Amino acid sequence: MENYFSTLNNINVNGKTEKKNGLTYLSWAWAWGEVKKLHPDATYTIYENASGLFYHTDGSTCWVKTGVTVNGIEHIEYLPVMDYKNKSIPVDKVTSFDVNKAIQRSLTKAVARHGLGLYIYAGEDLPEEENTPDKKAEKIFDACVSEPSTIVKPVGDGIPGKSLKFTCADCGKTLEPIPDSNGKPIPIRAHADKSEKMFGRVLCLDCIRKINSENANR
Ligand SMILES: [Zn+2]
Repeated sequence: MENYFSTLNNINVNGKTEKKNGLTYLSWAWAWGEVKKLHPDATYTIYENASGLFYHTDGSTCWVKTGVTVNGIEHIEYLPVMDYKNKSIPVDKVTSFDVNKAIQRSLTKAVARHGLGLYIYAGEDLPEEENTPDKKAEKIFDACVSEPSTIVKPVGDGIPGKSLKFTCADCGKTLEPIPDSNGKPIPIRAHADKSEKMFGRVLCLDCIRKINSENANR
């Protein structure tokens, strides 16, 4: 049986995201529906504080703590309660609306740790200066070098010993070998497979950068 993470990770989330204030979000209701379809026993938890409130506070800022259990594995996510500029809201200004929003984002992120829509968060944990769209694309593709490639069929000859040709689904350009962040070329086939897994289609690096810059400023 296929690894449950890969199954969730392979679900195409394109068209299920929405953009708010420069950030990309996956709809929690949709994400949870997808998880429950495959894992009817999946559960989620919103952790209360000692006073039974849905947020935790250090006296100045607040955060929420949520957990999503799939396949017997719980991933816990802490998220600050933030305003529309993604700045922490002081505890005396926080509303139930703000807390509810943070809970949904936090749960969606916990689901992503199980695979679903994880690419939306790719690069988020990187330090600021490394978090440019270009660097992000490179980091993502660094991860693919070691993976065996089996998914994507090349177009064109595909004859062993001859070079395989892959075409970008968005712009039609033939894929060129691209260097990873250490300047080592990434095999085209590995690139194509990874792209297929992450974006549901084969994309050239330029088109991936375009998508990532739409998701930038996270
Ligand atoms: Zn392209």
